[in-house]
Amino acid sequence: MKKDFTPALLDFGPLQIYLARHFGFCYGVENAIDIAFRTIEENPGKRIFLLSEMIHNPQVNADLQQRGVQFLQDTNGRQIVPYESLTKDDVVIIPAFGTTLAIEDTLNAIGIPIAKYNTTCPFVEKVWNRSEQIAQKNYSVVVHGKPTHEETRATFSHAAHVTPTVIVFDMAETELLAQYIAGEKNAAGFYADFAGRFSEGFDAEKDLQRIGVVNQTTMLASDTQAIADFLKQVMIKKYALSENETERHFAETRDTLCYATNDNQTSVYGMLEVNADLAIVVGGYNSSNTSHLVELCEEKLPTYYITGEDKLISKTTISHFNFHNKTTLTTQNYLPASEPVKILITSGASCPDALVESVIEKLCSFYKVTTTIEDLMEQFAL
Ligand code: SF4
Repeated sequence: MKKDFTPALLDFGPLQIYLARHFGFCYGVENAIDIAFRTIEENPGKRIFLLSEMIHNPQVNADLQQRGVQFLQDTNGRQIVPYESLTKDDVVIIPAFGTTLAIEDTLNAIGIPIAKYNTTCPFVEKVWNRSEQIAQKNYSVVVHGKPTHEETRATFSHAAHVTPTVIVFDMAETELLAQYIAGEKNAAGFYADFAGRFSEGFDAEKDLQRIGVVNQTTMLASDTQAIADFLKQVMIKKYALSENETERHFAETRDTLCYATNDNQTSVYGMLEVNADLAIVVGGYNSSNTSHLVELCEEKLPTYYITGEDKLISKTTISHFNFHNKTTLTTQNYLPASEPVKILITSGASCPDALVESVIEKLCSFYKVTTTIEDLMEQFAL
């Protein structure tokens, strides 16, 4: 059955909220949070560590820290607590993004069992499996992802274990890679251009002859598709392939986005059909999937990226995040004067629904609304 991606209208009279059809928590995040809280319950008196942030949401991470959980690394992989200080009696939770084989080995060597409290999302594991399938057919892997993101580092590690692997962040880097594939650039330059992004022993002359693309599960679907299509064309041109010969040099991987990323992104496209005044996107500022929802909205209308209702300082002032240059901004008069005001709202996969609800409640408090959230909930329940 075709899914419905039209937004839900919450009509408060002078304020009209168009809520994305799919938004917020995904299976992987719910599962990870469940396991993390169960771990705390099951291990009273033990030191409990998270490899890094559970998910990219400050409220969830703060909640876990309040219950005594400590982070071993920050979100960029910098060590906060040294591995040498861990003992086999400690508990370490692997986050939803998964982790690298090197870190798994380190924990195993200490004697910390990692399988019991491993919250790696099955959709991330699916990407690792896809990489393995490609590797078995002697393709190298091109990972489309953010090189410093935990998930991309984990995927790179798992792919690099089985086949030559390189990471590209965007189309500009893909075009650069294509020049090495096509032989337009001397292979020697590859190692400087992709420093820190290729697997050990990568041979830029040999290992770029057969490739397949996998992606960080939360990238923009249209970007991954464009990158895969582009590289396929590069191979077709270089090796003069006919349409049914492409698999000689390019593995047909359907994109490896997860269902939640797909649904949340497609719902934003559905939401953008509405002629609204502005969009509000709720989520952690280091959340990859949330920033992509912001990116889509920004193309059409003024968009404010916030972590919660506290950023709606007043009816005239909003504090929000510019993820392009990683700065926090304060904007005045973000709400138009003429009513009804039409606002699109969505949230990232690591954002609890309660945060979205409190944002809507705060917006309602700025207007003489003619109905309540409870009334609207009843209507939706009918
Ligand atoms: S966004 Fe997708 S891959 Fe990431 S945790 Fe959620 S379901 Fe898993």
